Amino acid sequence: MSALPIHRRTLTGLAKGLKRREFSSVEVTRSYLGRIAASQPDLNAFITVTGEAALAAAAVADARLASGQAGPLTGVPLAHKDIFCTEGVLTTCGSKMLANFVSPYDATLVARLRDAGTVMLGKVNMDEFAMGSSNETSHFGPVRNPWNTAMVPGGSSGGSAAAVAARIAPAATATDTGGSIRQPAALCGVTGIKPTYGRVSRYGMIAFASSLDQGGLITLSAEDAALLLGAIAGFDPRDSTSVDTPVPDYTATLGDSLEGLRIGLVRQFFDKGLDARCEAQIRAALAVYEKLGARLVEVDCPNLPLSVPTYYVVAPAECSSNLARFDGVRFGHRCADPKNLIDLYRRSRGEGFGAEVKRRIMTGTYVLSAGYYDAYYLKAQRVRQLISRDFAQAFTQADVLVGPTSPVPAFPLGSKTADPITMYLNDIYTIGANLAGLPGMSIPCGFVEGLPVGLQIVGPHFSEARMLNAAHRYQTETDWHLQLPAAYA
Ligand code: GLN
Repeated sequence: MSALPIHRRTLTGLAKGLKRREFSSVEVTRSYLGRIAASQPDLNAFITVTGEAALAAAAVADARLASGQAGPLTGVPLAHKDIFCTEGVLTTCGSKMLANFVSPYDATLVARLRDAGTVMLGKVNMDEFAMGSSNETSHFGPVRNPWNTAMVPGGSSGGSAAAVAARIAPAATATDTGGSIRQPAALCGVTGIKPTYGRVSRYGMIAFASSLDQGGLITLSAEDAALLLGAIAGFDPRDSTSVDTPVPDYTATLGDSLEGLRIGLVRQFFDKGLDARCEAQIRAALAVYEKLGARLVEVDCPNLPLSVPTYYVVAPAECSSNLARFDGVRFGHRCADPKNLIDLYRRSRGEGFGAEVKRRIMTGTYVLSAGYYDAYYLKAQRVRQLISRDFAQAFTQADVLVGPTSPVPAFPLGSKTADPITMYLNDIYTIGANLAGLPGMSIPCGFVEGLPVGLQIVGPHFSEARMLNAAHRYQTETDWHLQLPAAYA
């Protein structure tokens, strides 16, 4: 049997090796902790590394594995996006506001993965409060793309994507409000899944825009994502928007035939904004699907081009309300020597939030204010409905929609920070799924000048099993998802 080094294995491969006692969880965990430490100066993917706790959890997992009581994920290490509350561990959300916040409880997603026997390596870097597309708004400095460290990893889950791409964690949790799982997965050449809104509990996931936020995963393969999604999905009485429908075994349908699958090509996803070199990779991937028996049909979502402006009314509105809780009183940053209560609020928030977060709070407060509510917020909600209807119509003609995840590959650090509109347009192909609450994935499908290109798959509500299988079948025909950056080989 070939001895594939630990870090070259997928999460599924690691789980198998642990079962067969080819290596222990402590060995695996030690290997990743070593890689994290070595990569930190270049990538800055982690905010907190919980090495000691990880090794202790790994030892517990090894005992379970030895006693034959292990579950499918026992002993597998992973990293959590620093937006998820972790009991007793710093939970910063990438912000100075929470730079000193140690959470007193675990997010449901974190608790479920811990109960499944996974080992937390630490907390990964992200855009401040998940607002960004390049990981450059983090208070803890930008993350760099492992394929080329002059480039951004995407955002806001840039730490999650870079960590998996560089094999310094075999998988990571992430969140997606407008594309934050799929876009960084695309830019770093890894697999990302944003489940249906309500599929995964938001309890303990620091809120950005509550009607759009959804927790999910960044992994090397669809198979890995299927395994992990089974552990995190499902109803949670602590999240009133989590949906009480059964969680299928997502691994059971991997390998099903794609014969006759109707793949919708949304005309608006192949517009003039799409880099021609990326488009060529997407078209090549579509040819693979045709070879697998799928049928391509063109569909129209005429309101989709309105998704970015709609999102930039709805998301800031919700964020201005959600972020009102950071007032310097109960937790987080507090200014020194406040003169009175108003001074405490003003200076704590002024000092604690970064520029992009402030821009969103101001925009959100404006669109919700009396006199502007009808003109902006109400209108945006109406357009949101139209976009949902477009998707519903498309799904009468197609089983899944496939297209680009991002209009361009990874771009140089600093190249878009002065121009918020250009930055916001990174999510032109991903935001629609959030507005409609649909599940979406991104899988690697090629390279442009050494930088990965992502293929997006969007399905109807609760069609994760179908999407994961479509991704898995592509990954059995191609090996883009197994390529790794030379510096991290
Ligand atoms: N890039 C988008 C934004 O800046 C989406 C972020 C996200 O999905 N969390 O808001």
